[in-house]
Amino acid sequence: MARTDAIVLGAGIVGVSAALHLAKRGLAVALVDRRGPGEETSFGNAGVIEGNTLFPHAFPSGFGALLRIALKQAPEANYHLSFLPKVAPWLFAYRANTQVEGSLEFAEAMRPLYSRAVSEHETLMAEAGAGRYLRKTGWLKVYRSDASFAAGVRERDYASELGLSHHDLGTEEARALEPSLAPVYRHAVHWPDAASVSNPLAVTTAYAALFTKLGGVIVKGDARTLHRAGGAWRVDTDEGPIDARDALVALGPWAPDILGPLGIRLPLAFKRGYHRHFRSLGNAGLARPVVDTDNGYCLAPMEQGIRLTTGAEFADRDAAPTPEQFDRLMPAARALYPLGEGIEAQPWMGSRPCFADSRPVIGRAPGQPGLWLDYGHAHWGLTLGPVSGRLIAEMMTGAAPFCDPAPYSAERFAS
Ligand SMILES: Cc1cc2nc3c(=O)[nH]c(=O)nc-3n(C[C@H](O)[C@H](O)[C@H](O)COP(=O)(O)OP(=O)(O)OC[C@H]3O[C@@H](n4cnc5c(N)ncnc54)[C@H](O)[C@@H]3O)c2cc1C
Repeated sequence: MARTDAIVLGAGIVGVSAALHLAKRGLAVALVDRRGPGEETSFGNAGVIEGNTLFPHAFPSGFGALLRIALKQAPEANYHLSFLPKVAPWLFAYRANTQVEGSLEFAEAMRPLYSRAVSEHETLMAEAGAGRYLRKTGWLKVYRSDASFAAGVRERDYASELGLSHHDLGTEEARALEPSLAPVYRHAVHWPDAASVSNPLAVTTAYAALFTKLGGVIVKGDARTLHRAGGAWRVDTDEGPIDARDALVALGPWAPDILGPLGIRLPLAFKRGYHRHFRSLGNAGLARPVVDTDNGYCLAPMEQGIRLTTGAEFADRDAAPTPEQFDRLMPAARALYPLGEGIEAQPWMGSRPCFADSRPVIGRAPGQPGLWLDYGHAHWGLTLGPVSGRLIAEMMTGAAPFCDPAPYSAERFAS
Protein backbone atom coordinates (compact mmCIF):
# COMPACT_ATOMS: atom_id res chain seq x y z
CA MET A 1 0.00 0.00 0.00
CA ALA A 2 1.33 3.44 -1.02
CA ARG A 3 1.16 6.50 1.16
CA THR A 4 1.04 10.08 -0.13
CA ASP A 5 0.31 13.48 1.34
CA ALA A 6 -2.80 14.02 -0.76
CA ILE A 7 -5.10 12.12 -3.08
CA VAL A 8 -6.83 14.15 -5.79
CA LEU A 9 -9.89 12.43 -7.23
CA GLY A 10 -10.71 13.50 -10.79
CA ALA A 11 -8.25 14.52 -13.51
CA GLY A 12 -10.27 17.11 -15.40
CA ILE A 13 -8.87 20.63 -15.69
CA VAL A 14 -9.98 21.30 -12.10
CA GLY A 15 -8.35 18.24 -10.50
CA VAL A 16 -5.19 18.42 -12.63
CA SER A 17 -4.73 22.11 -11.75
CA ALA A 18 -5.22 21.43 -8.03
CA ALA A 19 -2.85 18.45 -8.09
CA LEU A 20 -0.26 20.56 -9.90
CA HIS A 21 -0.52 23.39 -7.36
CA LEU A 22 -0.17 20.89 -4.50
CA ALA A 23 2.90 19.31 -6.15
CA LYS A 24 4.41 22.78 -6.69
CA ARG A 25 4.11 23.26 -2.92
CA GLY A 26 6.17 20.12 -2.32
CA LEU A 27 3.42 17.61 -1.49
CA ALA A 28 3.49 13.99 -2.65
CA VAL A 29 0.25 13.72 -4.62
CA ALA A 30 -1.63 10.85 -6.29
CA LEU A 31 -4.10 11.94 -8.98
CA VAL A 32 -6.76 9.27 -9.50
CA ASP A 33 -9.14 8.97 -12.44
CA ARG A 34 -10.86 6.13 -14.21
CA ARG A 35 -9.90 7.70 -17.55
CA GLY A 36 -6.97 9.73 -18.87
CA PRO A 37 -6.52 13.39 -17.81
CA GLY A 38 -8.95 15.81 -19.41
CA GLU A 39 -11.01 13.22 -21.27
CA GLU A 40 -14.47 14.09 -19.90
CA THR A 41 -16.10 17.54 -19.56
CA SER A 42 -12.73 19.26 -19.86
CA PHE A 43 -12.29 17.72 -23.31
CA GLY A 44 -15.21 19.29 -25.06
CA ASN A 45 -15.62 22.90 -24.00
CA ALA A 46 -15.42 25.98 -26.19
CA GLY A 47 -11.95 26.83 -24.93
CA VAL A 48 -12.77 30.33 -23.70
CA ILE A 49 -10.81 31.63 -20.70
CA GLU A 50 -13.25 34.35 -19.76
CA GLY A 51 -11.79 36.43 -16.95
CA ASN A 52 -14.32 39.19 -17.69
CA THR A 53 -17.25 37.13 -16.41
CA LEU A 54 -19.43 39.29 -14.18
CA PHE A 55 -22.95 37.86 -14.08
CA PRO A 56 -24.17 34.27 -14.05
CA HIS A 57 -25.72 32.85 -17.23
CA ALA A 58 -29.12 34.51 -17.47
CA PHE A 59 -32.33 32.61 -16.86
CA PRO A 60 -34.60 33.13 -19.88
CA SER A 61 -36.86 36.10 -19.25
CA GLY A 62 -40.13 36.89 -20.92
CA PHE A 63 -43.06 34.70 -21.81
CA GLY A 64 -41.96 34.31 -25.45
CA ALA A 65 -38.54 32.91 -24.56
CA LEU A 66 -39.98 30.50 -22.00
CA LEU A 67 -42.67 29.35 -24.41
CA ARG A 68 -40.13 28.66 -27.16
CA ILE A 69 -38.11 26.55 -24.71
CA ALA A 70 -41.27 24.77 -23.46
CA LEU A 71 -42.25 23.97 -27.05
CA LYS A 72 -38.71 22.74 -27.77
CA GLN A 73 -38.23 25.34 -30.45
CA ALA A 74 -35.44 27.31 -28.77
CA PRO A 75 -31.95 26.74 -30.22
CA GLU A 76 -30.33 27.81 -26.95
CA ALA A 77 -31.88 25.29 -24.54
CA ASN A 78 -33.44 21.85 -24.30
CA TYR A 79 -34.86 19.62 -21.58
CA HIS A 80 -36.13 16.13 -20.83
CA LEU A 81 -39.68 16.37 -19.50
CA SER A 82 -39.09 13.55 -16.99
CA PHE A 83 -36.19 15.52 -15.47
CA LEU A 84 -38.13 18.75 -14.81
CA PRO A 85 -39.85 17.72 -11.54
CA LYS A 86 -36.44 16.68 -10.14
CA VAL A 87 -34.69 19.90 -11.11
CA ALA A 88 -37.60 22.31 -10.43
CA PRO A 89 -36.44 23.51 -6.95
CA TRP A 90 -32.96 24.10 -8.36
CA LEU A 91 -34.39 26.03 -11.32
CA PHE A 92 -36.41 28.32 -9.02
CA ALA A 93 -33.32 29.01 -6.91
CA TYR A 94 -31.23 29.59 -10.06
CA ARG A 95 -33.80 32.02 -11.43
CA ALA A 96 -33.76 34.00 -8.16
CA ASN A 97 -29.96 34.10 -8.18
CA THR A 98 -29.84 35.53 -11.70
CA GLN A 99 -32.03 38.56 -10.91
CA VAL A 100 -30.36 41.95 -10.32
CA GLU A 101 -29.35 41.47 -6.68
CA GLY A 102 -28.16 37.87 -7.13
CA SER A 103 -26.13 38.79 -10.20
CA LEU A 104 -24.32 41.55 -8.33
CA GLU A 105 -23.68 39.23 -5.40
CA PHE A 106 -22.24 36.66 -7.82
CA ALA A 107 -20.05 39.28 -9.48
CA GLU A 108 -18.58 40.45 -6.17
CA ALA A 109 -18.09 36.94 -4.82
CA MET A 110 -16.42 35.65 -7.97
CA ARG A 111 -14.31 38.64 -9.06
CA PRO A 112 -11.20 37.50 -7.13
CA LEU A 113 -11.22 34.25 -9.12
CA TYR A 114 -12.16 35.57 -12.55
CA SER A 115 -9.75 38.50 -12.36
CA ARG A 116 -6.82 36.07 -12.01
CA ALA A 117 -8.09 33.41 -14.39
CA VAL A 118 -6.08 34.34 -17.48
CA SER A 119 -2.83 35.08 -15.63
CA GLU A 120 -3.01 31.79 -13.69
CA HIS A 121 -3.37 29.89 -16.98
CA GLU A 122 -0.50 31.86 -18.51
CA THR A 123 1.78 30.93 -15.62
CA LEU A 124 0.96 27.24 -15.88
CA MET A 125 1.21 27.31 -19.68
CA ALA A 126 4.66 28.85 -19.52
CA GLU A 127 5.80 26.20 -17.05
CA ALA A 128 4.13 23.36 -18.95
CA GLY A 129 5.28 24.44 -22.41
CA ALA A 130 1.65 24.83 -23.47
CA GLY A 131 1.82 28.44 -24.62
CA ARG A 132 1.22 27.43 -28.24
CA TYR A 133 -2.42 26.64 -27.44
CA LEU A 134 -3.14 30.11 -26.05
CA ARG A 135 -4.76 32.85 -28.14
CA LYS A 136 -4.96 36.32 -26.65
CA THR A 137 -7.46 37.61 -29.20
CA GLY A 138 -10.47 37.94 -26.90
CA TRP A 139 -13.90 36.71 -27.90
CA LEU A 140 -16.72 38.23 -29.89
CA LYS A 141 -20.41 38.22 -29.02
CA VAL A 142 -22.78 39.01 -31.88
CA TYR A 143 -26.36 40.22 -31.48
CA ARG A 144 -28.98 39.87 -34.19
CA SER A 145 -31.43 42.41 -32.76
CA ASP A 146 -31.36 45.73 -30.93
CA ALA A 147 -33.31 44.04 -28.14
CA SER A 148 -30.77 41.27 -27.51
CA PHE A 149 -27.95 43.85 -27.57
CA ALA A 150 -29.85 46.06 -25.11
CA ALA A 151 -30.38 43.08 -22.76
CA GLY A 152 -26.63 43.04 -22.01
CA VAL A 153 -26.25 46.75 -21.29
CA ARG A 154 -26.32 46.41 -17.49
CA GLU A 155 -23.42 43.96 -17.56
CA ARG A 156 -21.44 46.10 -20.01
CA ASP A 157 -21.98 49.24 -17.90
CA TYR A 158 -20.80 47.36 -14.84
CA ALA A 159 -17.77 46.13 -16.78
CA SER A 160 -16.95 49.74 -17.68
CA GLU A 161 -17.24 50.75 -14.01
CA LEU A 162 -14.70 48.05 -13.13
CA GLY A 163 -12.41 49.02 -16.00
CA LEU A 164 -12.89 45.79 -18.00
CA SER A 165 -12.26 46.50 -21.68
CA HIS A 166 -14.99 45.85 -24.21
CA HIS A 167 -15.69 47.44 -27.57
CA ASP A 168 -19.20 47.85 -28.92
CA LEU A 169 -18.98 47.34 -32.68
CA GLY A 170 -21.25 47.72 -35.67
CA THR A 171 -21.60 44.93 -38.20
CA GLU A 172 -18.80 46.13 -40.48
CA GLU A 173 -16.41 46.91 -37.61
CA ALA A 174 -16.88 43.36 -36.33
CA ARG A 175 -16.29 42.00 -39.83
CA ALA A 176 -12.95 43.80 -39.84
CA LEU A 177 -12.04 41.49 -36.94
CA GLU A 178 -13.76 38.39 -38.33
CA PRO A 179 -14.17 38.78 -42.11
CA SER A 180 -15.69 35.31 -42.52
CA LEU A 181 -18.84 36.24 -40.57
CA ALA A 182 -21.85 37.11 -42.71
CA PRO A 183 -23.61 40.39 -41.84
CA VAL A 184 -26.66 38.69 -40.29
CA TYR A 185 -26.17 40.50 -36.95
CA ARG A 186 -26.72 44.14 -36.04
CA HIS A 187 -24.28 44.57 -33.14
CA ALA A 188 -21.19 42.91 -31.73
CA VAL A 189 -19.08 43.30 -28.61
CA HIS A 190 -15.41 42.41 -28.57
CA TRP A 191 -13.95 41.52 -25.18
CA PRO A 192 -10.23 41.78 -25.96
CA ASP A 193 -8.90 40.60 -22.61
CA ALA A 194 -10.58 37.20 -22.73
CA ALA A 195 -8.27 34.43 -23.95
CA SER A 196 -8.97 31.10 -25.56
CA VAL A 197 -7.25 27.82 -26.32
CA SER A 198 -7.08 25.83 -29.53
CA ASN A 199 -7.21 22.43 -27.79
CA PRO A 200 -8.59 22.15 -24.24
CA LEU A 201 -7.58 18.47 -23.94
CA ALA A 202 -3.97 19.26 -24.89
CA VAL A 203 -3.84 22.02 -22.25
CA THR A 204 -5.03 19.67 -19.51
CA THR A 205 -2.63 16.91 -20.57
CA ALA A 206 0.26 19.42 -20.66
CA TYR A 207 -0.55 20.46 -17.07
CA ALA A 208 -0.78 16.76 -16.13
CA ALA A 209 2.65 16.13 -17.69
CA LEU A 210 4.12 18.99 -15.65
CA PHE A 211 2.52 17.47 -12.55
CA THR A 212 4.29 14.14 -13.16
CA LYS A 213 7.55 15.97 -13.89
CA LEU A 214 7.30 17.48 -10.41
CA GLY A 215 6.96 13.99 -8.91
CA GLY A 216 3.18 13.59 -8.96
CA VAL A 217 1.69 10.21 -9.77
CA ILE A 218 -1.33 9.60 -12.02
CA VAL A 219 -3.15 6.36 -11.26
CA LYS A 220 -6.24 4.67 -12.72
CA GLY A 221 -8.87 3.91 -10.12
CA ASP A 222 -12.48 4.30 -9.08
CA ALA A 223 -13.08 7.27 -6.81
CA ARG A 224 -16.18 5.55 -5.39
CA THR A 225 -13.84 3.31 -3.39
CA LEU A 226 -12.78 6.26 -1.21
CA HIS A 227 -13.15 5.37 2.47
CA ARG A 228 -11.56 5.98 5.82
CA ALA A 229 -8.81 3.57 6.87
CA GLY A 230 -7.46 4.35 10.33
CA GLY A 231 -6.63 8.03 10.41
CA ALA A 232 -6.25 8.27 6.62
CA TRP A 233 -8.35 8.41 3.45
CA ARG A 234 -7.88 5.37 1.22
CA VAL A 235 -8.74 4.83 -2.43
CA ASP A 236 -8.35 1.54 -4.30
CA THR A 237 -6.53 1.86 -7.61
CA ASP A 238 -5.14 -0.38 -10.35
CA GLU A 239 -1.79 -0.04 -8.53
CA GLY A 240 -3.28 -1.07 -5.17
CA PRO A 241 -4.67 1.00 -2.28
CA ILE A 242 -3.34 4.51 -1.69
CA ASP A 243 -3.59 6.28 1.66
CA ALA A 244 -3.29 9.98 2.42
CA ARG A 245 -4.14 12.36 5.23
CA ASP A 246 -6.01 14.61 2.79
CA ALA A 247 -8.27 13.80 -0.14
CA LEU A 248 -9.65 16.30 -2.62
CA VAL A 249 -12.84 15.65 -4.58
CA ALA A 250 -12.51 17.27 -8.03
CA LEU A 251 -14.91 15.01 -9.87
CA GLY A 252 -16.95 17.70 -11.62
CA PRO A 253 -20.39 16.28 -12.44
CA TRP A 254 -19.57 12.98 -10.72
CA ALA A 255 -18.77 14.48 -7.29
CA PRO A 256 -22.20 13.52 -5.86
CA ASP A 257 -21.44 9.84 -6.57
CA ILE A 258 -18.90 9.75 -3.79
CA LEU A 259 -20.15 12.58 -1.58
CA GLY A 260 -23.71 11.21 -1.27
CA PRO A 261 -22.60 7.97 0.43
CA LEU A 262 -20.47 10.09 2.82
CA GLY A 263 -23.59 12.03 3.82
CA ILE A 264 -22.69 15.22 1.93
CA ARG A 265 -25.60 16.31 -0.26
CA LEU A 266 -25.07 19.64 -1.98
CA PRO A 267 -27.58 20.93 -4.56
CA LEU A 268 -25.73 20.29 -7.82
CA ALA A 269 -27.55 20.20 -11.17
CA PHE A 270 -26.25 19.48 -14.65
CA LYS A 271 -26.46 21.59 -17.75
CA ARG A 272 -25.58 19.18 -20.48
CA GLY A 273 -23.96 20.52 -23.62
CA TYR A 274 -22.81 19.17 -26.98
CA HIS A 275 -20.19 19.95 -29.54
CA ARG A 276 -19.43 18.98 -33.09
CA HIS A 277 -16.55 20.02 -35.35
CA PHE A 278 -17.05 21.34 -38.86
CA ARG A 279 -14.73 22.14 -41.72
CA SER A 280 -14.81 25.70 -43.04
CA LEU A 281 -15.77 26.35 -46.63
CA GLY A 282 -13.16 27.95 -48.88
CA ASN A 283 -10.61 30.06 -47.02
CA ALA A 284 -12.95 30.98 -44.18
CA GLY A 285 -11.57 31.01 -40.66
CA LEU A 286 -12.00 32.54 -37.20
CA ALA A 287 -9.34 34.21 -35.05
CA ARG A 288 -11.35 33.88 -31.82
CA PRO A 289 -14.49 32.21 -30.42
CA VAL A 290 -17.73 33.85 -31.57
CA VAL A 291 -21.01 33.60 -29.66
CA ASP A 292 -24.33 34.00 -31.42
CA THR A 293 -26.11 35.46 -28.41
CA ASP A 294 -29.63 35.16 -29.82
CA ASN A 295 -29.19 31.46 -30.55
CA GLY A 296 -27.03 30.43 -27.61
CA TYR A 297 -24.21 28.62 -29.40
CA CYS A 298 -20.50 29.31 -29.79
CA LEU A 299 -18.23 28.80 -32.81
CA ALA A 300 -14.73 28.17 -31.52
CA PRO A 301 -11.72 27.66 -33.79
CA MET A 302 -9.91 24.50 -32.66
CA GLU A 303 -7.11 22.33 -33.99
CA GLN A 304 -9.80 19.83 -34.98
CA GLY A 305 -11.90 22.37 -36.97
CA ILE A 306 -14.61 24.85 -36.03
CA ARG A 307 -16.12 23.53 -32.79
CA LEU A 308 -19.79 24.40 -32.45
CA THR A 309 -20.85 24.15 -28.79
CA THR A 310 -24.46 24.25 -27.64
CA GLY A 311 -26.23 25.87 -24.71
CA ALA A 312 -27.85 24.05 -21.79
CA GLU A 313 -29.86 20.85 -21.81
CA PHE A 314 -31.59 19.93 -18.55
CA ALA A 315 -31.57 16.15 -18.34
CA ASP A 316 -30.26 13.37 -16.12
CA ARG A 317 -26.48 13.31 -16.34
CA ASP A 318 -26.47 9.70 -17.47
CA ALA A 319 -29.49 9.76 -19.81
CA ALA A 320 -28.78 8.95 -23.47
CA PRO A 321 -27.68 11.96 -25.57
CA THR A 322 -30.46 13.88 -27.36
CA PRO A 323 -28.63 16.46 -29.52
CA GLU A 324 -31.87 17.94 -30.91
CA GLN A 325 -30.56 21.48 -30.49
CA PHE A 326 -28.36 21.06 -33.55
CA ASP A 327 -31.44 20.74 -35.77
CA ARG A 328 -32.75 24.03 -34.38
CA LEU A 329 -29.56 26.06 -34.51
CA MET A 330 -27.79 24.83 -37.65
CA PRO A 331 -29.69 27.15 -40.04
CA ALA A 332 -28.63 30.17 -37.94
CA ALA A 333 -25.05 28.90 -37.62
CA ARG A 334 -24.72 28.28 -41.35
CA ALA A 335 -26.13 31.74 -42.06
CA LEU A 336 -23.51 33.33 -39.78
CA TYR A 337 -20.43 31.37 -40.86
CA PRO A 338 -19.62 29.17 -43.91
CA LEU A 339 -19.63 25.82 -42.12
CA GLY A 340 -18.74 22.87 -44.32
CA GLU A 341 -19.31 19.21 -43.56
CA GLY A 342 -19.39 17.86 -40.00
CA ILE A 343 -16.23 16.01 -39.00
CA GLU A 344 -17.62 13.45 -36.53
CA ALA A 345 -20.69 11.31 -37.12
CA GLN A 346 -22.03 11.89 -33.61
CA PRO A 347 -21.79 14.99 -31.42
CA TRP A 348 -19.78 14.88 -28.18
CA MET A 349 -21.74 15.42 -24.94
CA GLY A 350 -20.64 16.71 -21.54
CA SER A 351 -22.34 17.93 -18.35
CA ARG A 352 -21.60 21.30 -16.79
CA PRO A 353 -21.75 20.81 -13.00
CA CYS A 354 -23.74 23.79 -11.64
CA PHE A 355 -24.85 25.03 -8.25
CA ALA A 356 -27.90 27.27 -8.23
CA ASP A 357 -25.79 30.32 -7.30
CA SER A 358 -23.36 29.48 -10.15
CA ARG A 359 -20.40 29.51 -7.75
CA PRO A 360 -18.15 26.47 -7.31
CA VAL A 361 -17.51 24.82 -3.96
CA ILE A 362 -13.87 25.24 -2.96
CA GLY A 363 -12.86 24.32 0.58
CA ARG A 364 -13.42 21.77 3.35
CA ALA A 365 -16.07 19.07 3.11
CA PRO A 366 -18.52 19.51 5.98
CA GLY A 367 -18.17 16.95 8.76
CA GLN A 368 -15.34 14.97 7.12
CA PRO A 369 -11.90 15.97 8.43
CA GLY A 370 -9.20 15.80 5.77
CA LEU A 371 -11.73 15.80 2.91
CA TRP A 372 -11.69 18.79 0.56
CA LEU A 373 -13.91 19.91 -2.32
CA ASP A 374 -13.18 21.68 -5.62
CA TYR A 375 -16.05 21.23 -8.08
CA GLY A 376 -19.18 22.81 -9.55
CA HIS A 377 -17.47 25.25 -11.93
CA ALA A 378 -20.48 25.25 -14.24
CA HIS A 379 -20.00 27.17 -17.51
CA TRP A 380 -16.47 28.29 -16.64
CA GLY A 381 -14.43 25.32 -15.38
CA LEU A 382 -11.67 25.71 -17.96
CA THR A 383 -11.42 29.38 -17.03
CA LEU A 384 -11.40 28.75 -13.29
CA GLY A 385 -9.45 25.48 -13.01
CA PRO A 386 -5.96 26.91 -12.35
CA VAL A 387 -7.07 29.74 -10.05
CA SER A 388 -9.28 27.35 -8.04
CA GLY A 389 -6.34 24.96 -7.89
CA ARG A 390 -4.17 27.66 -6.38
CA LEU A 391 -6.81 28.53 -3.79
CA ILE A 392 -7.51 24.97 -2.67
CA ALA A 393 -3.78 24.17 -2.54
CA GLU A 394 -3.19 27.20 -0.34
CA MET A 395 -6.02 26.11 1.96
CA MET A 396 -4.87 22.48 2.11
CA THR A 397 -1.28 23.45 2.94
CA GLY A 398 -2.25 26.02 5.57
CA ALA A 399 -0.89 28.97 3.56
CA ALA A 400 -2.70 32.29 3.55
CA PRO A 401 -5.30 32.06 0.77
CA PHE A 402 -4.93 34.78 -1.88
CA CYS A 403 -8.59 35.71 -1.37
CA ASP A 404 -11.35 35.13 1.16
CA PRO A 405 -12.64 31.63 0.37
CA ALA A 406 -15.93 32.09 2.33
CA PRO A 407 -18.12 32.68 -0.79
CA TYR A 408 -17.12 29.26 -2.12
CA SER A 409 -17.66 27.31 1.09
CA ALA A 410 -20.01 24.30 1.13
CA GLU A 411 -21.42 25.75 4.38
CA ARG A 412 -23.34 28.33 2.35
CA PHE A 413 -25.92 25.61 1.63
CA ALA A 414 -26.31 24.72 5.32
CA SER A 415 -29.35 26.86 6.18
C1 LIG B 1 -20.45 22.42 -24.33
C2 LIG B 1 -19.60 23.01 -23.22
C3 LIG B 1 -18.87 24.18 -23.46
C4 LIG B 1 -18.09 24.73 -22.45
N1 LIG B 1 -17.32 25.84 -22.73
C5 LIG B 1 -16.49 26.35 -21.77
C6 LIG B 1 -15.60 27.43 -22.06
O1 LIG B 1 -15.54 27.91 -23.18
N2 LIG B 1 -14.83 27.91 -21.06
C7 LIG B 1 -14.86 27.38 -19.80
O2 LIG B 1 -14.15 27.90 -18.93
N3 LIG B 1 -15.64 26.31 -19.50
C8 LIG B 1 -16.47 25.79 -20.45
N4 LIG B 1 -17.27 24.72 -20.17
C9 LIG B 1 -17.29 24.19 -18.80
C10 LIG B 1 -16.08 23.32 -18.49
O3 LIG B 1 -15.82 22.43 -19.55
C11 LIG B 1 -16.32 22.55 -17.19
O4 LIG B 1 -16.72 23.43 -16.17
C12 LIG B 1 -15.03 21.85 -16.75
O5 LIG B 1 -14.54 21.02 -17.77
C13 LIG B 1 -15.25 21.01 -15.51
O6 LIG B 1 -14.02 20.42 -15.21
P1 LIG B 1 -13.87 19.35 -14.06
O7 LIG B 1 -12.44 19.03 -13.95
O8 LIG B 1 -14.60 19.83 -12.86
O9 LIG B 1 -14.72 18.10 -14.60
P2 LIG B 1 -14.30 16.93 -15.63
O10 LIG B 1 -13.46 17.46 -16.71
O11 LIG B 1 -15.55 16.22 -16.00
O12 LIG B 1 -13.40 16.00 -14.74
C14 LIG B 1 -13.95 15.08 -13.81
C15 LIG B 1 -13.12 13.83 -13.87
O13 LIG B 1 -13.62 12.90 -12.90
C16 LIG B 1 -13.44 11.59 -13.43
N5 LIG B 1 -14.33 10.65 -12.74
C17 LIG B 1 -15.68 10.68 -12.67
N6 LIG B 1 -16.13 9.65 -11.92
C18 LIG B 1 -15.04 8.97 -11.52
C19 LIG B 1 -14.85 7.82 -10.71
N7 LIG B 1 -15.87 7.14 -10.16
N8 LIG B 1 -13.60 7.38 -10.48
C20 LIG B 1 -12.53 8.03 -11.02
N9 LIG B 1 -12.64 9.12 -11.79
C21 LIG B 1 -13.90 9.59 -12.02
C22 LIG B 1 -13.77 11.74 -14.89
O14 LIG B 1 -13.22 10.67 -15.65
C23 LIG B 1 -13.18 13.11 -15.21
O15 LIG B 1 -11.87 13.00 -15.76
C24 LIG B 1 -18.06 24.13 -21.16
C25 LIG B 1 -18.78 22.96 -20.92
C26 LIG B 1 -19.53 22.39 -21.95
C27 LIG B 1 -20.27 21.10 -21.68
